[in-house]
Amino acid sequence: MTLTERSAHKIVFESVTMVYGLGELAVKALDDCSLSVGANEFLCLLGPSGCGKSTILHLAAGFLTPSTGAVFINKRRIYGPGTDRGIVFQKHNLFPWKRVEGNIAFGSRMQALPEKERRSKVNEYLDLMELSGFERHYPSQLSQGMQQRVSLARAYANEPEILLMDEPFASLDAQTAMRMRELLLRIWSERRKTIVFVTHDIDEAIHLADRVLLMTSRPGRIKKEFLIELSRPRSWEFYSDSRYTELRSAMRSALLNE
Ligand code: ADP
Ligand code: MG
Repeated sequence: MTLTERSAHKIVFESVTMVYGLGELAVKALDDCSLSVGANEFLCLLGPSGCGKSTILHLAAGFLTPSTGAVFINKRRIYGPGTDRGIVFQKHNLFPWKRVEGNIAFGSRMQALPEKERRSKVNEYLDLMELSGFERHYPSQLSQGMQQRVSLARAYANEPEILLMDEPFASLDAQTAMRMRELLLRIWSERRKTIVFVTHDIDEAIHLADRVLLMTSRPGRIKKEFLIELSRPRSWEFYSDSRYTELRSAMRSALLNE
């Protein structure tokens, strides 16, 4: 890929291979994996368990370095994490000794704000995440779903240009997950972010994404690309759209062949 082609993209993976461990314990998680994510694009990664979805997010976050190949963010090759990227993990990673408000205020961009602004941002996101009244609680005093919402509030409040999300709604009940998807779409459309969202849920991928990349089983590669050209905002009605049902069955059969 040339430099000019790369410049249209926010995130680029160039022939990335990722091997964990050494010798006979070595596991090749990704094999010659190339992909790119456009600025302000909402991309979903869909694939069977163990195919390397989380590995891709950790590489984009800069927590891992590829065994071979390279990862570029904003045209620059990355060698570690940065404030341009926020990540939401599958399981919350809140600080147990910090209250909800302290956890939400933790991000480096939040810390750079004057006290008053930081407080108002914490309140804004507490409200958005339906957590008002719990700002003084500790994570252990919250349900699993609430803990995950605090993690989401922390990532959103820090307002990174790129959000990397690893099955962030998987631990929520169906109704809360639906509300969180709608809220995420609102934040994405109002604040123009680039999002890479990992899921194994076809409906979730179609609801959210501009484009879905389907991965092969391990070692992971991009097997197929689906453009989701359903109009936005997408709400309940889109489930009865015939293009939705077609996409859904095409994805299902591609996934089942994995
Ligand atoms: P997914 O998120 O799609 O379920 P992962 O990216 O977590 O997949 O893992 C891909 C493969 O890499 C898996 O087969 C897993 O066993 C292996 N793997 C992931 N993390 C590690 C690690 N830290 N050490 C060794 N192997 C790992
Ligand atoms: Mg995973």
